[in-house]
Amino acid sequence: MAIQILPPQLANQIAAGEVVERPASVVKELVENSLDAGATRVDIEIDKGGAKLIRIQDNGGGIGKDELALALSRHATSKVHTLDDLEAILSFGFRGEALASISSVSRLTLTSRTAEQSEAWLAYAEGADMGVKILPAAHPVGTSIEVVDLFFNTPARRRFLKSDKTEFTHIDEWLKRIALARPEIHLTLKHNGKQVRNYRPADNEAQYLQRLAQVCGRPFAEQALKVECQHDDMRLSGYLQSPWQVDPCDTHYFYVNGRLIRDRLVNHAVRQAFAGLAELEQPGYVLMLELDPHQVDVNVHPAKHEVRFHQARYVHDYILQALSSALQQAQQLPVDDVNP
Ligand code: ADP
Ligand code: MG
Repeated sequence: MAIQILPPQLANQIAAGEVVERPASVVKELVENSLDAGATRVDIEIDKGGAKLIRIQDNGGGIGKDELALALSRHATSKVHTLDDLEAILSFGFRGEALASISSVSRLTLTSRTAEQSEAWLAYAEGADMGVKILPAAHPVGTSIEVVDLFFNTPARRRFLKSDKTEFTHIDEWLKRIALARPEIHLTLKHNGKQVRNYRPADNEAQYLQRLAQVCGRPFAEQALKVECQHDDMRLSGYLQSPWQVDPCDTHYFYVNGRLIRDRLVNHAVRQAFAGLAELEQPGYVLMLELDPHQVDVNVHPAKHEVRFHQARYVHDYILQALSSALQQAQQLPVDDVNP
């Protein structure tokens, strides 16, 4: 075959293979965009597990009429402009791929209004060249994105979707992660017309504990030990399962600069802090690590689940120290007994 440049839709569908695995990945990308846009409220509506409809409405800054087409094209982002930006990233997005990818494998419409505009506009991309149509619309300041018939044109992907219930569970689970990380945001979730979740904004600790109970269950929220440690430009805060809470607990949430990360480092530090204290297979935790974004590389994987710490050993020991002292305070034991 002769060498040819791929038509935009096909190039986007290939990229979608990495970013858009299932409806929950669409919800993740869209809600993260809403948060990056400064929204304080995000409403999510799902039909049939998301395969039929995903609608996300936010009250963020919106997208100007002139930028709607750009927002739908690949490698177009307002979040990163230089390599320096990429090396110190704090927004969720930076690849400029989500909207282009999702719109190449669904029927996507983007409706938005900025505070400067008196009217809203909607945009959708169609055809192999992904030409963008722009029409007037009605919408308050903010953005709505509607994703209909996900994977309708990529049957191989569509066949991999599980039952509506399973796909919805993935969405619900993902929302829990964001609900814990961003307590100040009002989040609602509907499935097939029925409201399933309503996470009201939490401005103080008592309200945060309510959210913690909504997400992680009452036993965890009522008994968890508070973790709070700050020095050397690093901060670890959150909650740790009490060693006296004996029932198994599947609360394992670790955030780095607000991003949920899968990392063995934290599991290891938690187990080590508990060593000799309680016979828990993997004690539960909700932990937020904040550090200089230069100290961590988030551009490791397209789905951004993983990071690389420049000083992994130091981060591990920092977490261990913070957890050991929380456990020690709870037990009033000398540190050496907690962490031999
Ligand atoms: P990225 O998030 O990596 O920049 P996306 O494809 O997800 O790439 O979005 C492209 C651009 O569209 C963003 O950089 C942002 O400027 C704009 N955008 C997307 N969603 C929203 C939203 N809900 N509110 C405001 N702007 C948005
Ligand atoms: Mg994005």
